[in-house]
Amino acid sequence: MVQPGIIEKRDFGPTGMRFSVLGLGTWEMEREGPAAVKALQRGIDEGANHIDTAEMYGSGRAEQIVGKAVKGRRESVFLVSKVLPSNATYEKTLEACERSLRNLGTEYLDVYLLHWRERRTPLEETFRAFDKLVQGGKIRAFGVSNFDVKDMEEAVQIAGPGNIACNQVLYHLHERAIEYDLLPWCVTRGIALVAYSPLGQGKLPANHALRDLALARNTTPSQVALAFLIRHPNVFAIPKSSHVEHVAEN
Ligand code: NAP
Repeated sequence: MVQPGIIEKRDFGPTGMRFSVLGLGTWEMEREGPAAVKALQRGIDEGANHIDTAEMYGSGRAEQIVGKAVKGRRESVFLVSKVLPSNATYEKTLEACERSLRNLGTEYLDVYLLHWRERRTPLEETFRAFDKLVQGGKIRAFGVSNFDVKDMEEAVQIAGPGNIACNQVLYHLHERAIEYDLLPWCVTRGIALVAYSPLGQGKLPANHALRDLALARNTTPSQVALAFLIRHPNVFAIPKSSHVEHVAEN
């Protein structure tokens, strides 16, 4: 039985950081203002130490919400943000990181991700910028998002083994394609797999089969959906909620 306020922590890939298995997503939180700040703070109180955001979300306004939520307790959380592929050249990545740091009101990011891959900027260039940011103490580690196995092979070849923290990808009960190849590939190489949209963007809690299953187990559909993902020792899930009740439930 998990105690209230205690969420299991696991090694986050090769970074040496121990992230809570359940993190806090922030996509579209900028629409919800103070409620979103409260929800994030409740999540941190419950033991979630992993907050996921991106420069794309509300053009930096979601990062500002996170900044408000972690004010005065920055050291108790790991902040993850993402650079857009359109900003992924060497110079623009450095600039984008500075903007994200300002929005978040912090001096460093724990992990910085390339949000998804576009071919116009060579991956070498983005990773060169990530290396520079690591050297300058602006980020502690870096990773990728929405990469398939072929992209991952290339990424590891460029960055070197043990240097990619994670791959953040779509994974929930209705989207299990990664189980065939990407998930085992990441496990073998010790790269964390972060499941985004773990509640199917809010559709899974209303699923009838899941409701029946949850009822029989005296739990809730969201809890079943999240437990399904984090059963695997290499997987982290980052549900988004702007409601304290939902955060507590998750
Ligand atoms: P999600 O977490 O699967 O679902 C969010 C929706 O579920 C919200 O509408 C939320 O509403 C609702 N919800 C949360 N807990 C609930 C509960 N216990 N009962 C009922 N409804 C509940 O979807 P997501 O926001 O797409 O994904 C999560 C995070 O992953 C994002 O916020 C973002 O940080 C990240 N992400 C990354 C990428 C990428 O390309 N890397 C893409 C998508 C998402 P309330 O707010 O009203 O609770």
